[in-house]
Amino acid sequence: MRTKYKATKKDKLLITKYMTKKLTAKALKNLTRSIDQDAKCKNCASLRCAGWETMPSSFNQEKLELVGTLKSGNEELWDEYHPKGTQIWSADAPISPHFHPYNKCDVHICKTCGTSYLRYTEFGGYYVDQRIRELNPDLITDHTQIEK
Ligand SMILES: [Zn+2]
Repeated sequence: MRTKYKATKKDKLLITKYMTKKLTAKALKNLTRSIDQDAKCKNCASLRCAGWETMPSSFNQEKLELVGTLKSGNEELWDEYHPKGTQIWSADAPISPHFHPYNKCDVHICKTCGTSYLRYTEFGGYYVDQRIRELNPDLITDHTQIEK
């Protein structure tokens, strides 16, 4: 007879640590504080990514901690949300978890200064590009449909 598995306190801690939490737009907004350029650590201050950028090799990714994901099973959706004429690279493009590329993003926080970032990997035909964008709470939207 097999004894039933029971998670110990230590297991539970590990589970919380490694199970990536799914975040809604609202949860994302609650989690994120406004960006304060002056409060940034040296590592984060070296990164300029108000819009999407390729992860620079000079940036120390070890300082980031994964805190959640925006992936919710609709990663195959490629529509983008730009009601105000922005495009994917715009620094003021909405952060819209239901749409590309946000529906493929993980959420990270800098362990030193608390700046939040979105990250995803772009798989092109002949390249793989790690992208990063600063998470500005003012740009988060909860739209699930593109207004016509
Ligand atoms: Zn930092």
